Amino acid sequence: MQARDEGRAETGRWADRDTLRGMYTALATALVDWHRAARRPMPWRTPFPREPYGVLVAEVMAQQTQIDRVLPFWERFLARFPTLAALAAADESDVLEQWSGLGYYRRARMLRAAAKAIEARGEWPRTAESLRTLPGVGPYSAAAVAAFCFGGTEPPVDGNVARVAARFGRLALPLGSARLLAAGRRLAAALHAAAPSPEVFEALMELGGTLCAPAPPRCLLCPLRPGCEAAHHGDQDRYPLPRPQRAAEPHRWVVLWLERDDGQVLLREVQGPLLDRLWLPPLRILDACEQPASAAAGLAAGLGFAGSLRTAPTLSHGISHRAITVHPFVGSFEPGVSEATPDRRWADPLRPGLPTSSLLVKLARICRASSWEV
Ligand code: SF4
Repeated sequence: MQARDEGRAETGRWADRDTLRGMYTALATALVDWHRAARRPMPWRTPFPREPYGVLVAEVMAQQTQIDRVLPFWERFLARFPTLAALAAADESDVLEQWSGLGYYRRARMLRAAAKAIEARGEWPRTAESLRTLPGVGPYSAAAVAAFCFGGTEPPVDGNVARVAARFGRLALPLGSARLLAAGRRLAAALHAAAPSPEVFEALMELGGTLCAPAPPRCLLCPLRPGCEAAHHGDQDRYPLPRPQRAAEPHRWVVLWLERDDGQVLLREVQGPLLDRLWLPPLRILDACEQPASAAAGLAAGLGFAGSLRTAPTLSHGISHRAITVHPFVGSFEPGVSEATPDRRWADPLRPGLPTSSLLVKLARICRASSWEV
């Protein structure tokens, strides 16, 4: 059976307009009923219209992170910065520290910049179009905040909604494509027109994050099943097409793990395009032909460290499309490198009290377990 293209997605088996309108009304009602019974409770999911600050924080956090994982970070972040004004007035390092563990730290910087921009203008932008002018707020987050907090009608379409649209319309389109996002907007708008409430948008997102998750979809429980083309044909697993993969870019880093007897480890503030302004053990990016041991020796000499170094097992770390092989070298405390400076601190690697990356915990595990002499 041939998959349909998105131009025919809204008709398919429902060629008659009245039948089609009736189908969307029935589906939207079933979708909202399902959502009220099955939605995952989240503290920012208060009755509509919602307070926008908590919603914006949640939506920015969820951009590259599953919603279930977001919850403890959201609670910690809101406890530290309970209001937009508190976030706008916060030091960047404090904001990054509260973001630690979520990754994609640019989001945290942009969120703080957005808070400052809203504070400066004295009020929240209320439309999706004006919300999109804020730093780091893209079409999805802008539409979500506008819909959930200010009654906007532009559908927020994330990857979950796009996946539902691909299966519902049996559209052979890749995730992330503009055509699939447009199909997601059409599906969400048609359901919203049949039941005009922001809950329809949230229910569609929740459906994509739960029953219509990547694999396998649980169609027998799905409120959209009566209209779903892929469920009708039994080929749900073929939609959407996979996102075109960007080839991983290999990198090699060398890292110095210098630990004192009291368990404190030397950290430096990273300056560079990757992990900028996060605190990690001293590190260097290796050139193509550079040997890790000689690079580690040069790095140690630059810090005034003259002791012996042990190698620890290499570890892998991913940042966006970069595949980084990390070569750790372990040394014991020497008085010459003990002083703290503005860009150099001694800290407990498991509770550094500084903005850092998940790489620090990985290094602690590997370096503390290693006992191999060079
Ligand atoms: Fe997804 Fe199945 Fe529901 Fe279709 S019926 S939208 S494939 S869960």
